[in-house]
Amino acid sequence: MSLLAVADAQAAILERMTTLASESIALTEALGRVLAMSMYADRAAPPFANSAMDGYAVLVGDLAQASADQPVSLQIIERVAAGAVPKHELRAGSAIRIMTGAQVPANAEAVVPFEETDEGQPNAQSEVVRMFQATQHGNNIRPAGEDMQAGALVLNAGQVLHAGSIGVLATIGAAQVPVFRQPRVAIIATGDELVDVGVEPNPGQIRNSNGYANAAQVREAGAVPILMPIVPDNAEALRATLAQAVAEADVLLTSGGVSVGDYDLVKQILNEVGKLEFWRVRMRPGKPLAFGSINGKPIFGLPGNPVSAMVCFELFVRPALRKLGGYQQLFRPSVWAKLLDADLESNERRQYLRVIVKSSAEGLTAQLTGAQGSGLVSSMARANGLLIVPEASRGIIRGEYAEIVLFGELQ
Ligand code: AMP
Ligand code: MG
Repeated sequence: MSLLAVADAQAAILERMTTLASESIALTEALGRVLAMSMYADRAAPPFANSAMDGYAVLVGDLAQASADQPVSLQIIERVAAGAVPKHELRAGSAIRIMTGAQVPANAEAVVPFEETDEGQPNAQSEVVRMFQATQHGNNIRPAGEDMQAGALVLNAGQVLHAGSIGVLATIGAAQVPVFRQPRVAIIATGDELVDVGVEPNPGQIRNSNGYANAAQVREAGAVPILMPIVPDNAEALRATLAQAVAEADVLLTSGGVSVGDYDLVKQILNEVGKLEFWRVRMRPGKPLAFGSINGKPIFGLPGNPVSAMVCFELFVRPALRKLGGYQQLFRPSVWAKLLDADLESNERRQYLRVIVKSSAEGLTAQLTGAQGSGLVSSMARANGLLIVPEASRGIIRGEYAEIVLFGELQ
């Protein structure tokens, strides 16, 4: 089988992904979820003209001649708290004491803040207030519909909900929110040498790190991980776990056992119980990547080496999960940063090197995390980006700018 280019593998995978159905969830659970329907304002916001300040509602004409030397005195005819509705309209020579957010009297023309009067202290009971300057139509009155008109489109389907959009949903009364269902992803680590994190490894054994790292990546992609028990390099055990995973999950993920070693069973079993689409991609790390389906559910066979498993997840699994989950933006953003390290040689395979990307007044810089072996999981812990050395290029020289897939926070 020939080697596939990264972009071709990504395209082939995405073509086979169909966004999941939607579900309705409580507003309090909606942060970070993807909106499945466009949302419209059920009424204007604010729903009524209201005061932007604690002050006095007035008629502008009454204050036309007001000055520090010649203050104007107005009769206080009513007091309106937020949540109350004024009973009176203003007439010449009157003022209505009004709090921030309270509905203004129907004919109010402006609100004069307490600070600009002689009756600004809390709970002032005086019946007269003096004002020292003129005001203008609309001052400190927030008109109805200033924020949203009734029926207006306020959020688009496909938007990822953040704190601001949660505030908008609450404003329009969306106690329940239609969102796309999150893909459930079964994670299966394979290998006779693996033991679980809580178990003391015997000679020849190592801890299963891929399962946990991949589960974290699944969460970062907005999906739900299901950690399956470790599967030994044994066809029977692998068949049984795959069957259980197909029953429980939307997507299956294995790590290890996809190479050409004596005990690499994943491809063979996949061919037997499902359909194997391809298994080699022209990239480093992570050449052996199996992709296929069992009972129509996508399955990714990631390589066993921890860095390869995580990088292949970033490049192939994450965009697929994002499409299933209804995201519009499937790929991580890439940035261009100045390479601080030594020159990087090109290879016939596209290379993804772990780097630390920093932001400074001079722009972005990138520094290799150190040795780049595909078994060095600690390099993934230090990195926030994957620097791309394009295949069959002239490489990247120190001081040049390189494209970097940014997967962590800028430092
Ligand atoms: P394999 O692809 O199964 O030949 O595995 C390649 C390398 O990755 C071997 O050194 C394995 O021990 C290691 N490896 C495989 N699975 C895991 C895992 N879940 N956690 C940590 N290392 C692993
Ligand atoms: Mg193995």
